[in-house]
Amino acid sequence: MKIFKNIVILTGAGISAESGLATFRASNGLWNNHKVEDVATIEAFQKNPQYVHEFYNELKKELVKAKPNAAHLAITKLQNEYPADINIVTQNVDTLHEKAKSKNIYHVHGQINQAVCLNCGHILETFGDVDTETVCPNCQVAGMMKPNIVFFGENLLYMDKVDELLRSCDLFLSIGTSGVVFPAAAFVQTAKYYGALTYEFNLEPTSNNFYFDHHIMGKAGVTLPAFVDEMTASLKNGD
Ligand code: NAD
Repeated sequence: MKIFKNIVILTGAGISAESGLATFRASNGLWNNHKVEDVATIEAFQKNPQYVHEFYNELKKELVKAKPNAAHLAITKLQNEYPADINIVTQNVDTLHEKAKSKNIYHVHGQINQAVCLNCGHILETFGDVDTETVCPNCQVAGMMKPNIVFFGENLLYMDKVDELLRSCDLFLSIGTSGVVFPAAAFVQTAKYYGALTYEFNLEPTSNNFYFDHHIMGKAGVTLPAFVDEMTASLKNGD
């Protein structure tokens, strides 16, 4: 295997499935038994902010308990043992990459342990409850905190940085994402156009797989550690 210098790893809900967290797919497009339009749109938040806060407060409790699995740990191993610039772009709002002690993590869809103040932009980091009464610790205004989750119709976070990473990577790995949520689903296209070798890790072929050079089917907790071992072995073998 060729030696790579810049690697981008895109992760989706599938990488956290073996940690016991439900994907959208596995639950017929529901997110923890809630319709996405009731909890993940800006209209829903405007209409009933308390309901939306309660959903994320409950989800937070579940995600706090989850532990990283072999796929998260394999990425950390790759970052520690492979001499490349390795960045993780995750669609997940859980913090399992952080728990696995990975670094260079970009949560493009936000993260569960944060709320953003719509008055001053302050990011509040908390695993505790946030609601319509919460006071922003920066501007002291109450009732303006929104879960720092990117709702449908909102801009993704870190896009300038991610675009730069995609244009300069020579290896792009997509793990456990169905490729139906845009613009993340099109990241592979950018990476491929700019010359990266592209791999998809999933249980099954996805509908948006045209730009992938390789498809590795199976549970990420099995396929990814094997792939990382192959990559680190290629360093020793010099091939
Ligand atoms: P998705 O639910 O649409 O798709 C998950 C994909 O992972 C599917 O293609 C499935 O075949 C695959 N998969 C399932 N188990 C796998 C395994 N063990 N190994 C490899 N692949 C596996 O998820 P998505 O594409 O990430 O998009 C859904 C959106 O939902 C994201 O934006 C994300 O923010 C949000 N979400 C996040 C979480 C989380 O943070 N853990 C959980 C559910 C949904």
